[in-house]
Amino acid sequence: MQTESTKHIFVTGGVMSGLGKGVISSSIAKLLQLSNQKVSCVKIDPYLNYDAGTMNPIAHGEVFVTEDGGECDMDIGNYERFLNQNVPRTHNITTAQIYSSVIEAERRGEYLGACVQIIPHVTDAIKERIRKIAKSENLDMLVVECGGTVGDIESLPFLEALRQLRLEDGSENVLFVHVTLAPSLDVVGEQKTKPTQHSVQELRRIGIQPDLLAVRCSRPLEISAKKKISLFSNVSAKDVFSCHDAESILTVPQTLYDQGIVDVIFKKFGKVGLVNTSANWDKWNIIVNSFLDSKEKVKIAMVGKYVKLADSYVSVNHSLKHAGAKLGKNVIIDWIDSEELNGNLENLSQYNGIIVPGGFGERGSEGIIKTANYARERNIPYLGICFGFQLAAVAFGRYVCGLSNANSTEIVPNTENPIIDLLPEQKLIEAKGGSLRLGANEIKLEDNTLAFKLYKSNTIHKRHRHRYEFNQKYLELFTKKGLQFSGYSDNKKRMEILEIPSHKFYLGVQFHPEFSSRPGYPEESFEAFVKAASA
Ligand code: GLN
Repeated sequence: MQTESTKHIFVTGGVMSGLGKGVISSSIAKLLQLSNQKVSCVKIDPYLNYDAGTMNPIAHGEVFVTEDGGECDMDIGNYERFLNQNVPRTHNITTAQIYSSVIEAERRGEYLGACVQIIPHVTDAIKERIRKIAKSENLDMLVVECGGTVGDIESLPFLEALRQLRLEDGSENVLFVHVTLAPSLDVVGEQKTKPTQHSVQELRRIGIQPDLLAVRCSRPLEISAKKKISLFSNVSAKDVFSCHDAESILTVPQTLYDQGIVDVIFKKFGKVGLVNTSANWDKWNIIVNSFLDSKEKVKIAMVGKYVKLADSYVSVNHSLKHAGAKLGKNVIIDWIDSEELNGNLENLSQYNGIIVPGGFGERGSEGIIKTANYARERNIPYLGICFGFQLAAVAFGRYVCGLSNANSTEIVPNTENPIIDLLPEQKLIEAKGGSLRLGANEIKLEDNTLAFKLYKSNTIHKRHRHRYEFNQKYLELFTKKGLQFSGYSDNKKRMEILEIPSHKFYLGVQFHPEFSSRPGYPEESFEAFVKAASA
């Protein structure tokens, strides 16, 4: 049982976005976990969307789906992977969620005639949400990452709430870590401290004095730069940490640890007598090292719709790397735009495996259908996820079952052969936000199938995010022609896994295996896919 209240670490960002605040927050949380603390992470997203579900992955990166069906910011995925633990959807807080809870409370008359304002009503709602997580999960420590950059208008109420929380709980219970940048204009050039100075000034202007600075830089932060930053930002030099470019994000905890960050945090929290944690470290180091050893290359083509931004499929990328690390292979991923592929598929012959991740809508779908068919015909290992499952079924309908106009009704609503069709319960749904089939559901697996061989069980639970599914009108025909549906859910109401037993490795899954893959523990379908691609 927890005896004292949860310690909070608030991580803010300065200078610009994309500094790796998510990785730094996850790394700090990892170090606390390795120090035997019960820890979790929260992400604040100050934008006005209710959740990440309606956001374009090319602009914002992947929508990460939690076990309990939240459509979250991709940082939640970082937390899950670093900590190897599930993070509930409540851990992704947005402006819309806070404001709607305040507005609903106002409509219920809960403010008893008061004029409802950002301070205290909105800030109280933010604090309450954070405290509730800490308390209900009995956490020793909670890392809260505030999205955006200090100085943004939209993050102000959140930063104000965090400031109040420190005032109320005391500095022995709340720490601020500010992530900034020390750029150098060329490889050997001087590391510039001015952006950090200004960003800390901005933070202090709103009443927050950071306790620790995590400074992103291309090479280790020089002592002279540290001292200068310390002087101008009122943070002791030993509390200024270098977060220089790393070979793997998994080495960031070690980089911070080597600079003494765990001691600094524990001392500031008045915690002494750290328990011996070497066993935790041994386990973690084995995992990290498996990502660093140089190994034989396996080339994978990822054919998808949102390849212009690698972050659109960040969990798929990581899952492939997890599988490679476990198998002692170096997975090289080439992202190929399915829209540009149409007709010309020969380029795909150089790859050891082809993966098609999730996607929505018509654009680029023909390229995916042809890719799925190419992998089948050429006996190239294929893993299709969600859209990649659905369009593999469409390809099979067209090229094996002779249904030349087979399609998904998502792409051609009145197609003659709707191989993929809307989930029945979706037919009356109009609102786009939060209305897909979401989160973990039970899936049953048939004996003597590839799926059973991978998961070694008749029952698995996997996360979903879709509106369409395989149309069972075609089940008999497809089965007769050699496609096996080896996994299903809801008493066979929906098909979840397809495979072609005569193929080297041809697997399509309606669910999203990438959301449950972790360093050291690759998700089974990825491991088997990379293994088949390496054979
Ligand atoms: N667009 C498809 C559906 O809604 C696939 C979704 C996905 O790939 N996540 O069913």
